[in-house]
Amino acid sequence: MQASDHTPRPANIWSLLIIALLASLGMSYGAYKLAGYSWNQVVDYQSPFVKIDPATTRVDNPGEDERMVLIIVDGLTDEASRSMSGMERLRARGADVSLIVSQPSLSYPTWTTILSGAPQQISGVTTNWYERHVEVETLLDVAIAEGRSTLVAGPTDLDVLYGASAADRSAFTDWVSDSYMTAGIVDDALRLDKELADASVVIVHFPDIDEAGHAYGAASPEYAEMVAAVNADLERLVDGLDDGETVFCVTPDHGHIATGGHGGWEDPVIHTSCVFAGPGVRHTTAQAEIADIAPTMAVLAGLSTPGHARGIAITSILTEPDSPAVDADLARAGRFAKKYASVIRPSAEPAEPPMSAIAVRVLYAAVDATRLDADRASRLAPFFAVVAVLVAVTLVIGVYFRHALVSALAGTIAYFAVYNGLYFLVHGYTWSLSAFNEESMVQTFFNTRMVETVIAGVLACIVAAVVYPLLRREPKPPRRPYLAGWLSLGVLTTLTIQAALVLQVALFWRLWGASVVWRLPDLQAAFKYDLDLIQLTALGAVAVLGPAVTYVVGRMHPKIRRSNP
Ligand SMILES: [Zn+2]
Repeated sequence: MQASDHTPRPANIWSLLIIALLASLGMSYGAYKLAGYSWNQVVDYQSPFVKIDPATTRVDNPGEDERMVLIIVDGLTDEASRSMSGMERLRARGADVSLIVSQPSLSYPTWTTILSGAPQQISGVTTNWYERHVEVETLLDVAIAEGRSTLVAGPTDLDVLYGASAADRSAFTDWVSDSYMTAGIVDDALRLDKELADASVVIVHFPDIDEAGHAYGAASPEYAEMVAAVNADLERLVDGLDDGETVFCVTPDHGHIATGGHGGWEDPVIHTSCVFAGPGVRHTTAQAEIADIAPTMAVLAGLSTPGHARGIAITSILTEPDSPAVDADLARAGRFAKKYASVIRPSAEPAEPPMSAIAVRVLYAAVDATRLDADRASRLAPFFAVVAVLVAVTLVIGVYFRHALVSALAGTIAYFAVYNGLYFLVHGYTWSLSAFNEESMVQTFFNTRMVETVIAGVLACIVAAVVYPLLRREPKPPRRPYLAGWLSLGVLTTLTIQAALVLQVALFWRLWGASVVWRLPDLQAAFKYDLDLIQLTALGAVAVLGPAVTYVVGRMHPKIRRSNP
């Protein structure tokens, strides 16, 4: 730094260097804590809605009992399902329903939504780490309570999550990779159905297509081969169970990206389709949410809708859209919506439950929007305080160390170019949970982001140290009295990158907050937020390495060598 009237003395620069280093390390530590907190807020989300007693929302279905078969085909994309003759045969006589899958589009959360009509926000099941009995009521719970004969066949997880061994007959298969499980599951289901002399409520889960999706990707020939194999078993199961008076629903829990993986918001992951067929189902097409499956099945099968369902029966696919069974589902939906409003916005709780599907949806939309607006308003002042501090510090640094700040900004641009170039272009990632493919990859994924942050940060310090002498007429070498200034350039560059990330973190926080108390944040934004915090954390290492980097570049810089022979 050249001496001028404003420039602090070298001794002060040493103090500033220490303060800047501590500030950077402090941000690093704070981000580390916040990243852990925020991740756990989603993973361990404690839904306030599970406390709603299902007995208080239940409305008995006055319709006649029909035998129902619900088959979950894990990880089946819409495209693949249209290559399955078993699905096409049901579609030819039933309802082809385009589905939107709620997020995170992971298996335990989406199975729970299918079986309960409660999306992740309500069920509290947000990841596959949820390895205990779910707290929302399911179709199986209702069927058992209403004395129907029940049959469940599928992976062991169904017992862990839904207590499926309480069914009259159940058979569970350990989820083993590289083994084909669906054939055995179909054998189990057909055998147990004979034992029960036709079970009244049958729930079956096919795991294999999801395994192939994870291992090879939805675009692979291996995935297509697995779809064909499962198709043969699906046809065997449907043929074996269909007595002409059985209501079928065959549904995926989510799709897969072309390269394999789900959990995020990608089109082939969250847009898929299911089929309903049997007595009471029209031959038609419709659009619905995955939470609407359980209420629709309940209406068709003569069961009461599970008590925590946010979904509503898809009446457009019913031969009798105005039946007493539909009225019962709507009455239940209205009661639950009223309770929901009382949980998140007590002042918005209506005196009477809404009585139509539209009124129910309007109530949800209204209370969600009002609560979200109130949450955001409460975060506005702290957000502007953070922005004001960042601007003030930048201005002060700009006044005293204009050239250093410009160099640090050049380094910051280089940082984001390198980090994002690696993330989006080299790895081909997006801000999505689907990037993980398997839970076991989560830690490696974040560790690799930390390593790349350090690489990009060191390059940023090199750029800053290359640019700085170019801005000065007679740049000085990194020797006393300029040594502290040169070392500070590495820390200042790191701080500038951190400030840019803090601004982005603050923007997320302003919109969604860090705590998850009644709804999940936008998960694409939340994924970016987590990555921003990971970068902020790893930049602590760059703050320590940066001074050495700028020192070395300063020693080697050709312009400095020329002006200081
Ligand atoms: Zn999966």
